[in-house]
Amino acid sequence: MATVPKPLDRLIQELVRLPGIGEKTAMRLAFHMLRAERREVEALAAAMLAMRDEMTTCSLCCALSASDPCEICGDSQRSGEIVCVVEDTADQLAVERSGSFRGRYHVLQGALAPLDGVGPEDLRVRELLARLTDGAVKEVLVATNPTAEGEATALYLARLIKPLGVRVTRIAHGLPMGADMEYVDTATLGRALEGRRDM
Ligand SMILES: [Zn+2]
Repeated sequence: MATVPKPLDRLIQELVRLPGIGEKTAMRLAFHMLRAERREVEALAAAMLAMRDEMTTCSLCCALSASDPCEICGDSQRSGEIVCVVEDTADQLAVERSGSFRGRYHVLQGALAPLDGVGPEDLRVRELLARLTDGAVKEVLVATNPTAEGEATALYLARLIKPLGVRVTRIAHGLPMGADMEYVDTATLGRALEGRRDM
């Protein structure tokens, strides 16, 4: 049996480590790159490296961003009175796409998952509380995913934040249970944001 030539195999082994990429897809991608022009492959490799090097974490909202503070935290046109809490930067981008929110964000970088060993200290909770001390934020809109972990995180945050005298709201139900905000269509997400309820 012929073996896969070493350089080709090396790339395939790297590609199968990526999420959602199986052996077949890895092979298809590798062959595609083999046939592509050298400058195309160069552009792909350069984009991957630049993304790693140029992305940073916003020290205010903890979102992944190309600048610190991020574009949204630095935008004086946006309301500082309402902060939308999301699990990750992909969810933040989904809320942005809905066009229904003009406040600021806070990215937790995960959700509580005790069974997987993810506790409050693993999330950016302390950073969120620090933003609520000067009275500028009037409302925290919790837009964690409608999953068991997302709901538990929302309840946990409400218990911490309400005693500070800050209004805590939860994105409206109507999002399918178990859904990932990232994949909810923008109209549904817009309605869920508008129909938020006090916790
Ligand atoms: Zn920010």
